Amino acid sequence: MSKRLFNFCAGPAALPEAVLQTARDELTDWHGKGLSVMEMSHRSDEFVSIAEQAEQDLRDLLSIPSDYKVLFLQGGASQQFAQIPLNLLGEDGSADYIDTGIWSRKAIEEASRYGHINVAASAREYDYFAIPGQNEWQLSADAAYVHYTPNETIGGVEFNWIPEVGDKPLVADVSSDILSRPLDVSRFGLLYAGAQKNIGPSGLTVVIVRDDLLGKAHSKCPTMLDYSVAAQNGSMYNTPPTFAWYLSGLVFQWLKAQGGVEAMERINGAKQRKLYAAIDGSELYSNPINIADRSWMNIPFRLADDRLDKPFLVGAEERGLLNLKGHRSVGGMRASIYNAVPEAAVDALVAYMAEFEKQHG
Ligand code: PMP
Repeated sequence: MSKRLFNFCAGPAALPEAVLQTARDELTDWHGKGLSVMEMSHRSDEFVSIAEQAEQDLRDLLSIPSDYKVLFLQGGASQQFAQIPLNLLGEDGSADYIDTGIWSRKAIEEASRYGHINVAASAREYDYFAIPGQNEWQLSADAAYVHYTPNETIGGVEFNWIPEVGDKPLVADVSSDILSRPLDVSRFGLLYAGAQKNIGPSGLTVVIVRDDLLGKAHSKCPTMLDYSVAAQNGSMYNTPPTFAWYLSGLVFQWLKAQGGVEAMERINGAKQRKLYAAIDGSELYSNPINIADRSWMNIPFRLADDRLDKPFLVGAEERGLLNLKGHRSVGGMRASIYNAVPEAAVDALVAYMAEFEKQHG
């Protein structure tokens, strides 16, 4: 009997139980080869087949056009905050960034070390509870690219539209929303995501980059951070995070078996509707985000009285609802409901919220 509970962690986040079972079954002896994936050379035929299959499955899931490279890197999304300007700004370039919350500000701060960064729009005037409309953006003529964060994991705001940036490459941090619903990759110059939310375990970063953006790295860019070096070497310039790559490949196969990102859109749509309805329909809980800009993946909510936070969390744990405490910078609660969090988890949370409100409301 599985003792797995419902995990609402923002990341590293829940993985599909079926994936973990496959990994367990294959752990000591992968496909009768007498060794585990962790013990294989990354250059062996076996691992190369795992790596290529994972890439193909991701390409299928997101319909990634053939003029894009898919890179399997390390360093997390945070490393991309530096790696992107090092690769795309040239020796003395500038870029436009959109500030919608904590993660976009981290990207801005890091990129500012490498070039001139123009904050073309900021959600500050909305207290970060809404996304500034495109008509408020002040894009600059000489920007090498435009960067934004489609889903702010901590604030809980999400773009439900793709910005129009003319012929500038659009760069997006899709760490917490990749694969949650269909995405038109051809609208972007570069997409990047830390794996540990909607892809797989931590230790892996996926970068999807259009071919014409390769080969432009700063002359002092470390070899290990040059996208074109990674692309020329099939993401194996050095030893890649083989086990995380393998496990992510299992997640991609699981996603395909579920019906791909179209099915995820249906399921995730239903999950977020239920949870926001429970919040909005109550006197005790509230979510401050502008309705059109609410995240599907990360749903922060507050209780009317902070003193109820602790009993709420204790009761949740007793019912097997884990990791609902909000980010330390925001307080309150946050439910992260990525692909691997089943609708039953949301149902259980909504039922508990109603029960708690009856007792304490
Ligand atoms: N961007 C976003 C949107 C995130 O949610 C996170 C992690 N929570 C990061 C960047 C940083 O990711 P990593 O820990 O992989 O560096």
